[in-house]
Amino acid sequence: MKIVILGGGFGGFYTLKYLHKLFHTYGLKRISTRINADVKLILVNKKNYFLFTPLLHEFATGNVSLENLVEPIREIIKCCDYEFIHGEVKRIDLENKIVELNENKIDYDYLVIALGSKTNFYNIPGAEENSFTLKSLDDAIRLRNHFIHMFEKYANNLPGYQPDMSPGYKPDKSGSYPGSLSERNPGKISDNSSAELTFVIVGGGATGVELAGEMSDYFYKTFSKFYPKEIISKIKIILIEKGNELIPQFSPKLRKIAFEVLRKKNVEIILGKGVKEVGKDFIKLDDETIIKTKTVVWTAGVEPNLPEIIGNVEKDNKGRLIVNEYLQVKNYDNVFAVGDVCSFIKNQKPLPQLAQVAVRQAKAVAKNIFNLIQNKPLEKFIYRHQGDLISLGRFFAIGEIKNFTFSGFFAWLLWRGVYLSKLISNKDKIKTFIDWLLDFFYPRDITEI
Ligand SMILES: Cc1cc2nc3c(=O)[nH]c(=O)nc-3n(C[C@H](O)[C@H](O)[C@H](O)COP(=O)(O)OP(=O)(O)OC[C@H]3O[C@@H](n4cnc5c(N)ncnc54)[C@H](O)[C@@H]3O)c2cc1C
Repeated sequence: MKIVILGGGFGGFYTLKYLHKLFHTYGLKRISTRINADVKLILVNKKNYFLFTPLLHEFATGNVSLENLVEPIREIIKCCDYEFIHGEVKRIDLENKIVELNENKIDYDYLVIALGSKTNFYNIPGAEENSFTLKSLDDAIRLRNHFIHMFEKYANNLPGYQPDMSPGYKPDKSGSYPGSLSERNPGKISDNSSAELTFVIVGGGATGVELAGEMSDYFYKTFSKFYPKEIISKIKIILIEKGNELIPQFSPKLRKIAFEVLRKKNVEIILGKGVKEVGKDFIKLDDETIIKTKTVVWTAGVEPNLPEIIGNVEKDNKGRLIVNEYLQVKNYDNVFAVGDVCSFIKNQKPLPQLAQVAVRQAKAVAKNIFNLIQNKPLEKFIYRHQGDLISLGRFFAIGEIKNFTFSGFFAWLLWRGVYLSKLISNKDKIKTFIDWLLDFFYPRDITEI
């Protein structure tokens, strides 16, 4: 009896964890004897680690270290009762119960599809080729290196950056050298160079808003300690949202607070304008406005990460697999979907693509597979939203639990406490706690990786 889980993120990893717990509690051998088959749990993931996505923007802005975001899958399930396959799913054949990987094929009796989502560029010309994304560890590394590279490049291109060592030329009290760079280098600063210091984020959802807040802190509080004032004064952070509001999942009161906090952090917010085109060093909005920039971070939407599927499945208008009340994929009782790939309808709307949804679905799917193999009745998946919390940079967060809203420093402490508790291993919890503690006393990390 093979139970195969595709994807080792929030949905897949927690399905494995809960199945594992159920089999251990009730005795794997006893169940195998009862159903007269050896039960095998198999997890397939294209990386050998679990990635804690909610802290990606903190890594991209130098606040936590890389190894705090990842947990080796083999280490966090310290047991021999499962098999981990490091491979990439290429095709799923539901009719013949076979999954094709990059190097081999596996068959299954029960399948859980938990392959997550990827960035959706909505076919906007140049967006995919010229934007940064924030979905994977590689994305976050690329983005952080790019931020640092832009500042270094801008500084290097300005001869005035190297302090003039002539006698009597000394830094002022703040450590900067007097006289603006343009004064010291008349005619050498081209208008074009500000594209390097203009950073555009597309998408005013939770990821875009959190990233904007963290970028502001990174640039104005950390980079300002290491780069001359003239460079810092040229920074522009622009957040573009097609709708008329940021973070629509929050109440109007919190949306307004978020807007004001970001404005105070020097984030320029453009609402009600979509993106028409992205080029190597510009972004064009649908009202033909052109912003010169070498950095566009695309956080405007996601689509499911599904390979080719052979079989009669139903998908919603965003391409997600439609599941029934037990989280089974339509027409296939032995196939379940959890997390960002699945469309579970509640109150006429699909559930949001969130880690908290994926984890709750994982628990329900584990229980239902466990029941199915023992011919017990299935349990309906019931989802109750626990609430939303997002940080807006250092010392400020907003949150909403049921109808109760809160914001400010204590919300920020709560945000940190909640995310710390959600990290999987104690090792990562301790390391992240130390990083956050150091953040009170020292600037963030500006090392290229
Ligand atoms: C920057 C960021 C911040 C976020 N913050 C929050 C937050 O604060 N709170 C919250 O609730 N949610 C947050 N989310 C959303 C949350 O991360 C997702 O909803 C959640 O990860 C969905 O779980 P999943 O299992 O469906 O997908 P994932 O966790 O993405 O897991 C999918 C797994 O499948 C693997 N995979 C993909 N394709 C293949 C393939 N072809 N073959 C093999 N393996 C494959 C991937 O490597 C990955 O391990 C955030 C997302 C991002 C990007």
